[in-house]
Amino acid sequence: MNRLVLTNVNLLDGENPAVRNRTVVVEGDRITFVGAELPTVNDGDRVVDLQGRTVMPGLATCHYHATMHSGTQGGFAPYGYEYPAPYQALIAHRNLMAALQQGYTIVVGAGSAREIDPGIKQAIEDGFVPGPRFTPSGRELSTTGHANDTTVPWHWGLPELGAARNCDGADAFRYAVRDEVKKGVEVIKLFVTRGHLVPGSNDSMEMTPAEIAAAIETAHERGVLIRAHLAGKRAIMLAIELGIDIVDHCDEMDDEVIAALVETGTFVVPSIHYIKLFAQSDVRGPHVRAESMRNMEFMRDALPKAEAAGVRLLLGDDYGGVSLRHGQYGDELHTYIDDIGLAPLAVLRWATRNGAALIRRGDDLGTIETGKLADLLVVEGDPSIDIGVLADQNPMAVLKGGDIVCGALPDTQSA
Ligand SMILES: [Zn+2]
Repeated sequence: MNRLVLTNVNLLDGENPAVRNRTVVVEGDRITFVGAELPTVNDGDRVVDLQGRTVMPGLATCHYHATMHSGTQGGFAPYGYEYPAPYQALIAHRNLMAALQQGYTIVVGAGSAREIDPGIKQAIEDGFVPGPRFTPSGRELSTTGHANDTTVPWHWGLPELGAARNCDGADAFRYAVRDEVKKGVEVIKLFVTRGHLVPGSNDSMEMTPAEIAAAIETAHERGVLIRAHLAGKRAIMLAIELGIDIVDHCDEMDDEVIAALVETGTFVVPSIHYIKLFAQSDVRGPHVRAESMRNMEFMRDALPKAEAAGVRLLLGDDYGGVSLRHGQYGDELHTYIDDIGLAPLAVLRWATRNGAALIRRGDDLGTIETGKLADLLVVEGDPSIDIGVLADQNPMAVLKGGDIVCGALPDTQSA
């Protein structure tokens, strides 16, 4: 089999600090060599001298609303009924392609309208359209009258939103989880509390403990991931205890919460880039601005503590929401590094190693090692020194399973 031999590589393997002058060999869809030596070159091998450019694992964005859309009509589309379903599917695929072009080879859904995510996933897997490795989400599950449900007047007569599904009682949640899984959903999303830009107190609970327990138990019985919008500590601690896989937002991540997250290995998507935008402007009024500023202040203290303690943190945010258009994914890298003060290498680990572990593909993806799948980025410069080379421009090339799916390799051949 002909090989792709990348020489003179600055290697960021997803775990360790960068090492210069490495060689990475790709054969078929796998990495077959990583090291300092130059292996014997065979006829037909493609040898590319990367002249010190960085090779790193593909990135993972793990709180993704593929159908959410800062709309062409000026508003945004949180309800899931703003456009016909086929139109929404095209929006979702366009968004996923923007992510892939920016180096996100793993995308994990956090709620999407109608049954669009699983359909897109199938089209990608079948090779019908290009796209990242996509873990599809479904309608967000919560109870009648929950925060999002009441954003549409009751007298419109909608039983529920296109992007949300109302369930009342443990049995209703069990049925909904099973039905979502039957439709192809691989990560269930619950809406448990208000807070994190959803009007109301962090302490308000939109689901009972019995409902949360039933949903988590059923998702795990069916072998899928389950995540929840959680801002208040009481609900966060309860969900961790009941076995939630991903805490979304985790606004009240104090020392006790951090200890519970470390003990259980529960993943967290802080998603504070969106909060930062509202801390910087009055677009949603002075009250939201003040609350967002407090939230950012709290996270400046909590996130470095969580990182040091070993919490499994993830990248991802509410792109497609008001003022946060899909495609500006690099901005959140800047937020964690420039505003929170975390080391680029730490945040890159969230985006590579941790993302692969979340989707249970840590053996195959997330780091650059012999035997793993060749989901690789070629980046101009070293993002562990200057995150801008990754955050502010697309990678020079994006490889998925050994195929160049975006960009191109330079045509500098080694002698
Ligand atoms: Zn979200």
